[in-house]
Amino acid sequence: MASVWLTGLALVLAGPVPALLARARWTRAVPRAAIVLWQAVAVAAVLAAVGSALAAPEALLRVLTHPQDRTGVPLVIAVGVAALLASLIVVRLLGVLVLLAVRTRVRRARHRDMVDLLARAEQNLAVGSLRSGTVLRVLDGAVPFAYCVPGRVGREGRVVVTGATLDTLCPDELSAVIAHEQAHLAARHDLVREGFTALHQAFPVVVRSREARDAVALLLEMLADDAGRRTHGDTAMAGALDAFASSGASVDANDEVLMRRDRIRAHVRGGRALAVGTYLAAVALVVVPTVTIVIPWLGEALPVVGVR
Ligand SMILES: [Zn+2]
Repeated sequence: MASVWLTGLALVLAGPVPALLARARWTRAVPRAAIVLWQAVAVAAVLAAVGSALAAPEALLRVLTHPQDRTGVPLVIAVGVAALLASLIVVRLLGVLVLLAVRTRVRRARHRDMVDLLARAEQNLAVGSLRSGTVLRVLDGAVPFAYCVPGRVGREGRVVVTGATLDTLCPDELSAVIAHEQAHLAARHDLVREGFTALHQAFPVVVRSREARDAVALLLEMLADDAGRRTHGDTAMAGALDAFASSGASVDANDEVLMRRDRIRAHVRGGRALAVGTYLAAVALVVVPTVTIVIPWLGEALPVVGVR
C-alpha cells in the first residue's frame, strides 16, 4: 500500500501542485517563504519517487507470494530490483546536477573573463564603491540592462551594467539595481536556480519542473527587488524596472519586469502570518509523508528482509 501512496504523492507533487503554485499570486507577497515551499515540493517529490521505487517490489512480493515463500530467491530479487530502481533515480539526478554544475562554472569563468576584458575601466569609478566581494563592470551598450555573474568560491562576483544603464537611471535607481544584483550574489541565488534546472533536466516528463524552474526564477528576482527596496526605497527600485521595461528587447521579459514593477508600486509586502504559514506548509510537506507512510512501511518491510 505504501508504494501506491508514494507513487500517487510523487505524481501529485510533480504535476498538479507545481501547476497550482506557479499560478498562485499570494507567493509574490512572501517570495523567500515561497521559494522554500517550492524547494520542499521538489524534495518531497524526489523522496516520494525514491520511496515508491523502494516499496514497489516488496508490495509485488506480498501480492504474488504466501508469507512463507517470502525468502530466498524471490526476496533477493525484490530487494535487488528495489535498490536498482531507487539508485537509478538518485544517480540520474546527481549525474545531471554534477554535469550542470561543471558546465555552468566553465561557462561562467569564460563570461567573467569576457566582461573583465570588455569593461570600460573609467566608468567603473563613476559608480562608487560596492560591497566587498563584488566588482562592477560597465560594458558598452545602447540598451539599459544589468545582471550578475557569480564568482568562484572566495572570489569576486561581477555586477555587469551597460553604459546606457548609467545614462538612463538616476543615482538612486542605479544604486537600487546594484543592490538587487548584489543580493543575488550574496545569497547565492544561482545555486537555488541550478537545483531546479537540474530537476527539470533530470525528469523532463515525469516531474514537470519547467513551471517550478520559471516560478522560482521569478520569485528570486522579487527577492532581489526587495533587497533594492529595503536599501534605496520603493520609488528607486520601481523606477529602475520601469526604465528597463520601456527599453527592453523581448516582450516576454518586459511583461515580467512590468509585473515586478507593479508589485512594488502596489507595495506588496508579505505579512508575517503568511510567511510563517508557508514555512510550516514546507516543513509539513516533507515530514507528514515520512511519518504517515514511510515509517509504518519500514515497520512492515524491514522484518521481511530480516531486519528487526
Ligand atoms: Zn535579478
